[in-house]
Amino acid sequence: MARFREKVISLDLEGRIVPLTIRRHPRARNIILRIEPSTGPIVTVPWHTSYEEGIDLARQKQAWLLRQIDSMPSRIAFIHGARVPLLGIERTVCHDPESRRPVTVTDTEYQVSGQIEHMARRLTDWFKQEARRVISERVEEKSLLLGKPYRRIAIRDTRSRWGSCSEDGSLSFCWRLVMLPEMVLDYVVAHEVAHLKDLDHSPAFWQTVSTLTPETEQAKAWLKVYGEKVFYYG
Ligand SMILES: [Zn+2]
Repeated sequence: MARFREKVISLDLEGRIVPLTIRRHPRARNIILRIEPSTGPIVTVPWHTSYEEGIDLARQKQAWLLRQIDSMPSRIAFIHGARVPLLGIERTVCHDPESRRPVTVTDTEYQVSGQIEHMARRLTDWFKQEARRVISERVEEKSLLLGKPYRRIAIRDTRSRWGSCSEDGSLSFCWRLVMLPEMVLDYVVAHEVAHLKDLDHSPAFWQTVSTLTPETEQAKAWLKVYGEKVFYYG
């Protein structure tokens, strides 16, 4: 997978707070600003260019950015040609009847095998498995760090919440989390794992969260603006 560095900042555009992803990419030649339905505005800058130059471009184009944000689509089906994010990076869904594996992921595509009418189902199943794998890894790591064991992990299709933690230490997460940028997913996992220690949202709880994930405030801002868009997929 291509290596890049990125950070997310909150940009104030005419009084609206918009999370902006700035990505430094080794192969980028120019500064490019675009919008992706899953992550909102992204500015890609060459490796040796400062983040600030990317932010400047986004500010210059703020009228365009706000128009794009307001006209984002409301439903993206899992069909051939659809652009769908995995950990915040969009890839194109491609039907590949020849492939032996149900789903093969590359840097740019999801190659989905089998009959075309079963493609959406197959890709959804794959996302759920991938969500379980990625989320379990992080739960494992963070609960060890915290020194609080969990009982079990459930992956669900919840619309009302990203995750939950019950009093007996069972954690539950929405599979769609795996589409979100890594720092947002990491925050949601940290939030639920922190509930293994404190079930409330006290200052002590937030202190624990901050020891388990680096970008709590940015992730919360991101979820507020773009979180619900992930339900447009599939
Ligand atoms: Zn909570």
